[in-house]
Amino acid sequence: MIPFISQLSAAEQQMWLEALSIELPNENIVLASDVAPEQRQLCTIAIVANPDITTLSSFNNLSWLHSVWAGVEKLMANLQSSDIKITRLIDPMLSQTMAEAVLAWSLYLHRDMPIYAKQQQEATWLQHQYTPANERRIGILGLGELGCESAQRLQQNGFDVMGWSRSTKNLPSISTFSGQEGLLAMASRSDILVCLLPLTAETQGLINTELLEQMPKGSSVINFARGGIIDTDALLHTLVNNHIKHAVLDVFDQEPLPTDSKLWQQPNVTVLPHISAPTQLQSACKIVANNIIEYRKSGQLPVCVNKAKGY
Ligand code: NAP
Repeated sequence: MIPFISQLSAAEQQMWLEALSIELPNENIVLASDVAPEQRQLCTIAIVANPDITTLSSFNNLSWLHSVWAGVEKLMANLQSSDIKITRLIDPMLSQTMAEAVLAWSLYLHRDMPIYAKQQQEATWLQHQYTPANERRIGILGLGELGCESAQRLQQNGFDVMGWSRSTKNLPSISTFSGQEGLLAMASRSDILVCLLPLTAETQGLINTELLEQMPKGSSVINFARGGIIDTDALLHTLVNNHIKHAVLDVFDQEPLPTDSKLWQQPNVTVLPHISAPTQLQSACKIVANNIIEYRKSGQLPVCVNKAKGY
């Protein structure tokens, strides 16, 4: 028996249950709430979507969790010191969806859409100088599954693309950086800085005053990763004094973003409700199912989260 443990609505849980059961006809997939307390210790594998930790802990014999989300920071916060192996969703379709979002919002900033939208409200006819894409430098923080695909999509669309990661990378036509020095060097050349890092102890508050002030005056920030990677007060300060021209934010410390957050009212901020790359149910179920089938066949787990690194 494999429980599906999540805090999704009853209707959403039912959709996941049905789709997973179709992909795993030889497994008994059940909702966590339908597993009696005395049966819970029989479960060694669970499929999870942002599970409630109390419910997760009641399954006290788990050895492997497969998440249907790509980010695992909440699981890490609770299970980093446990022996439970964690696999997160690695789905090419998700990477393509994110690359599409990165391209869309980079174009939004590149073609000055926030400025022209504001000018229309004021009935202002004013043409700003056009910058060709190959002169627009875009730095990507994080060159993993999502960052690499996004960097390539931007590069294919003519942008001057750079990327920063923990380990050094060699990507065709993309300048790559690593380390603290590399971070500041890339930031100082980025007209648009896109965050696609995981939230870990090392990346918490990484986009801070020092980094933002290192960026060229009039540059912009896109955060599609996790809210905690940006120091919000530092960002607001640089937005108010117009050092940073615009920020597109899809993720926040607290979600939904509280109605009294200053970010809602800040004119040079675009607030998005965590929509840049939603998990695609059918595609995710196929990937989870293939991993479980392979594990049953060979005893081999797919790539698991590196708990020492936290991602
Ligand atoms: P990933 O494959 O694990 O890639 C993470 C990248 O960040 C890697 O390049 C890694 O470097 C780099 N990195 C991590 N810690 C670093 C550090 N301290 N210094 C420098 N580089 C560091 O993750 P992913 O699948 O691309 O996903 C990234 C994040 O996107 C997820 O964790 C999640 O939070 C977020 N996400 C958001 C949405 C949304 O809808 N907004 C959807 C899905 C995911 P190495 O390559 O050297 O390891």
